[in-house]
Amino acid sequence: MLEKIREFFKTFLLFELVKGLAVTGRYMFARKITVQYPEERTPQSRRFRGLHALRRYPNGEERCIACKLCEAVCPALAITIESEQRTDGTRRTTRYDIDLNKCIFCGFCEESCPVDSIVETRILEYHGEKRSDLHYTKEMLLAVGDRYEAEIARDRADDAAYR
Ligand code: SF4
Ligand code: SF4
Repeated sequence: MLEKIREFFKTFLLFELVKGLAVTGRYMFARKITVQYPEERTPQSRRFRGLHALRRYPNGEERCIACKLCEAVCPALAITIESEQRTDGTRRTTRYDIDLNKCIFCGFCEESCPVDSIVETRILEYHGEKRSDLHYTKEMLLAVGDRYEAEIARDRADDAAYR
């Protein structure tokens, strides 16, 4: 009975409304933490795991030696590699695809690579309008690596110094 009377007065005096307005009022004068993206950005770790890239050596040779460790370790089965032996005896990929629809950005591929070939860059602003747009081929991954090599190399040097 007492509970019912209390509820009646709470409803009658718009208690919940007043309580809600008090919360609104408190946040109105609090420090704002919303950032106006994309003009403003939050700091990003140099170890951020974004879009993948395949790297080359400074002489232009592909780093990847087609060992397939990244393909084997990928928990999402997102990587597909085919390879063949060159006339000089070295092995290189003929196909290196990553299906970003499947990728969970765990970084295992990057960690497993013995030659620092496959890496995850800081790039987060990319999109696909259909599923096939997020199916990255070897040419696309190499193009990302070529474009961002300076940043990738700098981040990896920083990372090594930090360890
Ligand atoms: S980040 Fe993880 S899930 Fe994505 S391709 Fe690499 S190993 Fe696979
Ligand atoms: S990217 Fe690295 S781990 Fe993957 S096949 Fe090439 S060399 Fe091996």
